[in-house]
Amino acid sequence: MIEILDPADLPRARATGALVAGILQTLKGRSSVGTNLLDIDRWAEAMIVEAGAESCYVDYEPSFGRGPFGHYICTSVNDAVLHGKPFDYTLAEGDLLSLDLAVSLGGVVADSAISFIVGGAEEPASLAMIDATERALSAGIAAARPGARIGDLSHAIGSVLSAAGYPISTEFGGHGVGSTMHQDPHVPNTGRPGRGYTLRPGLLLALEPWIMADTATLYTDADGWTLRSATGCRTAHSEHTIAITDDGAEILTRPRSAAGPGR
Ligand code: MG
Ligand code: MG
Repeated sequence: MIEILDPADLPRARATGALVAGILQTLKGRSSVGTNLLDIDRWAEAMIVEAGAESCYVDYEPSFGRGPFGHYICTSVNDAVLHGKPFDYTLAEGDLLSLDLAVSLGGVVADSAISFIVGGAEEPASLAMIDATERALSAGIAAARPGARIGDLSHAIGSVLSAAGYPISTEFGGHGVGSTMHQDPHVPNTGRPGRGYTLRPGLLLALEPWIMADTATLYTDADGWTLRSATGCRTAHSEHTIAITDDGAEILTRPRSAAGPGR
């Protein structure tokens, strides 16, 4: 199903996006050496409840996960890249942490993910991966406008990731957003321009480039949810929800003080 947002509802979509962006930035600020992933989950729950929003995750029970997720945020560390289920793990200096959050507020969902290094460590290889996903996300957003095709966005995203030297998996990617979290159209992280659904004003899309340093193969952790790199290599993930507007795209989940995607 593809939902098109009524222009009158755009303020509600903006409010959800601002909430998601604000929660992610707050959690990034609190995620330091010694922070437990279960604390991050509890903080996310408290902020979602405080805002009168609903978690898209806690009762989520899709075909690719085992039973209800049972948590409020995805916390993916190092070799974990997607759907990281929070568990009793204490963050260490230099960990590469991805936080992925989707909530519903006023009947509209927003979905966003950020990746960053815990502590003050400067690890060029990890920073390069994060940078590649953020640049790919920016390229996908820049290609999004009425009349563009999904393949144009996929091609823009995939071109950046490929040029940076990373393998690309099409197993999971971006998606339509609306009154629920995962809708059509699917937005693969690589593709051919000029193909696929034609974008129109009011369409909400979550674009989410993710990469693993040296493999395109995932495996599912024993927890039934967390997807990890098959080789144990590090990974990164960046995601924004955008609204297609009359003349381009508006990033709904951009942090207020941001210089770029996810920052
Ligand atoms: Mg997400
Ligand atoms: Mg998503």
